[in-house]
Amino acid sequence: MKNIVLFGPPGSGKGTQAQKLESKVGLRQISTGDLFRFHLGNSTELGKKAKAFMDKGDLVPDALTIEMLQSEVEKYPDAKGFIFDGFPRTAPQAEALDAFLLSRSTSISAMILLVVGEDELVRRLLERGKTSGREDDQNEEVVRHRITVYHEKTAPVADFYSAQGKFHKIPGEGGIEAIYASLEALIKSL
Ligand code: AMP
Repeated sequence: MKNIVLFGPPGSGKGTQAQKLESKVGLRQISTGDLFRFHLGNSTELGKKAKAFMDKGDLVPDALTIEMLQSEVEKYPDAKGFIFDGFPRTAPQAEALDAFLLSRSTSISAMILLVVGEDELVRRLLERGKTSGREDDQNEEVVRHRITVYHEKTAPVADFYSAQGKFHKIPGEGGIEAIYASLEALIKSL
């Protein structure tokens, strides 16, 4: 089983690349952002709890996020592996993911960071906001806050995987196909 953490700031292209990996390599994408947006759109109890955090560009509390992620993984007992997109975003989430995967006799194979400069991130997110319908992509203040939250709370998660010898990074700027080619080559080499 190959389990990949696709890592990087908002706008680094994790979702785009994870979707390609799912269709070409057959690893199942789990995007906690997409899951939360599903709950928001359907006004579930979880969606109502997550909304205020998401609107501001803050992280949803760990307990809610971890529980949602675990029940999603449990839906796919036959998956040949997962691409975690947007999770883990905090140290407690990374620890919980390791323990959860261990309980299922598997583990993270690699964390892969998509490296993209800050100006490019803001440009991409605001551009996406014109068509995605995502309110958190339409307000520059919220966009910049999400990037700050990434630097403060999420970026340190790389150290967790680095200590396990699982940290890799690839350039996330350039054409989508070229980025995908290096990502796929890396994953196939694992
Ligand atoms: P994303 O689509 O990954 O940019 O996520 C959109 C929003 O969903 C984030 O700004 C957070 O409010 C929330 N979210 C997604 N994934 C997580 C996570 N792993 N931990 C906490 N909040 C999350």
